[in-house]
Amino acid sequence: KLASREFHPQSSVIDVAGVKIGGDAPVIMAGPCAVESKEQLFEAADIVKAAGAQFLRGGAYKPRTSPYSFQGLEEEGLKYLAEARERTGLRIVTEVTTVEAIGRVAAYADMLQVGARNMQNFGLLKEVGKCGKPVLLKRGLAATIDEWLNAAEYIMNAGNPDVVLCERGIRTYETYTRNTLDLSAVAAVKHLSHLPIIVDPSHGTGKWRMVKPMAFAAIAAGADGLMMEVHPNPAKALSDGPQSLTPEHYQEIMDGIRKLSRFM
Ligand code: PEP
Ligand code: MN
Repeated sequence: KLASREFHPQSSVIDVAGVKIGGDAPVIMAGPCAVESKEQLFEAADIVKAAGAQFLRGGAYKPRTSPYSFQGLEEEGLKYLAEARERTGLRIVTEVTTVEAIGRVAAYADMLQVGARNMQNFGLLKEVGKCGKPVLLKRGLAATIDEWLNAAEYIMNAGNPDVVLCERGIRTYETYTRNTLDLSAVAAVKHLSHLPIIVDPSHGTGKWRMVKPMAFAAIAAGADGLMMEVHPNPAKALSDGPQSLTPEHYQEIMDGIRKLSRFM
């Protein structure tokens, strides 16, 4: 299989507009859950840039559990993301939820995210395999590691070798946390596959207080990077406020990551 280490013994380094994922230094993707307005996004982008991320994240197309929740700014949000890239030099990673939107998202973003809810949307996987941009493939809410790697296989088999995996927690019987962050998946994926893997402790726990310890643990486990939600004012966030970091907490985590990386 294309994603397997058997097929490709050497770890892959994925180049996303000049930023290398899977190299020596952990790559940080941070930003709000959703693009809410130009002001909110620019504020978040400046915070994230100052603290030292390489990527700005933010959803323009949101896969919300309820149809009555904020659904995202769609193309307007993509434009703000592209403007934030001009402003900061950060790379842009954003989710694509439908086949129809792939061309539009690929026109604005540096990397396309396939979210947990779409990890086994095989039609979407085949089409992002032809989009010409690197893909961040999040683990499905109830996906085994084998199913996840097969999802990567769909993208690669369609012609796109640039896949980065993202562990974001799975659903278990535990309800204290939003999901159960499976850090053992990092070690398993490193053995089974040559693809880079990053960890999202924000969706993985659903609680901002748990993001720092899990972020540090992910780096210690060998993750190639992190995805974290940061909001200028989490109490006012239109989605995922409880797991969003304030600028101050985000800065604190980044300071810790820099120290920790020196030991890895
Ligand atoms: C997200 O990253 O905004 C998101 C919706 O994540 P997930 O697909 O992991 O739930
Ligand atoms: Mn979110």
